[in-house]
Amino acid sequence: MNIPEFIVTLQNRVALVEDLVAAACRRAGRQRSEVTIVAVTKTLSLEETRLVLDAGLVHLGENRPQELWRKAPAIPEATWHFIGHLQRNKIDKTLPAASLLHSIDSIRLLRALDEEAGKQKRIVPLLLEVNASGESAKQGFAPEALLELAPELTAVKNVQVRGLMTMAAPLANSEECRPTFATLRELRNRLRERIAPDHPCDHLSMGMSNDFAVAIEEGATLIRLGTIYFQGLKL
Ligand SMILES: *Cc1c(COP(=O)(O)O)cnc(C)c1O
Repeated sequence: MNIPEFIVTLQNRVALVEDLVAAACRRAGRQRSEVTIVAVTKTLSLEETRLVLDAGLVHLGENRPQELWRKAPAIPEATWHFIGHLQRNKIDKTLPAASLLHSIDSIRLLRALDEEAGKQKRIVPLLLEVNASGESAKQGFAPEALLELAPELTAVKNVQVRGLMTMAAPLANSEECRPTFATLRELRNRLRERIAPDHPCDHLSMGMSNDFAVAIEEGATLIRLGTIYFQGLKL
């Protein structure tokens, strides 16, 4: 497709998603402004990613560090989110590129981030990834383990825990994801009681293309959408 077709197709999808997000907020008695959409651009080229801003999406997410390093400096108008697995040897370059790290999945990684953030004289906002659906192969903290980590979280000074993130199991019916999202919300609330105000712990990053409406009903403040915007979109 050419550039105008790309933009018009994307604009139509953005409008459609916006209606669904607004409807989910109304059902849940929430303000639309409480939910931020992160468009996951991992399937797009740099040129295609630039056009995403023209369709009105400002928060962009990448799950591979190298892609973030490449795209974020090239598109500084966007607010960049890192949503993938981070290895410790990639921390130094990732910190300057991302405004929020969604997917911190171990204490070892958290401590390494704290150290590098200190070196770079930054306070790094991040979310802790939780394996709330209990699949064995998945990254993230076990829900039972998280509250016990509160003392270690309050000990780190250069990172700020802004909340929790999870990926629901890929289920056919999004209703089946509801308990996973509710678990994450309750966990966020309980952790917040232990680590606020040092760590505000106010966000819930949950909900993808298949299940974002249910996630919003259960309190998501950040939803991460790829397929619903970008499937089949190609310059
Ligand atoms: C790819 C990805 C998404 C987007 O998923 P879709 O189902 O395409 O909307 C969200 N979160 C993470 C961590 C991802 O890697």
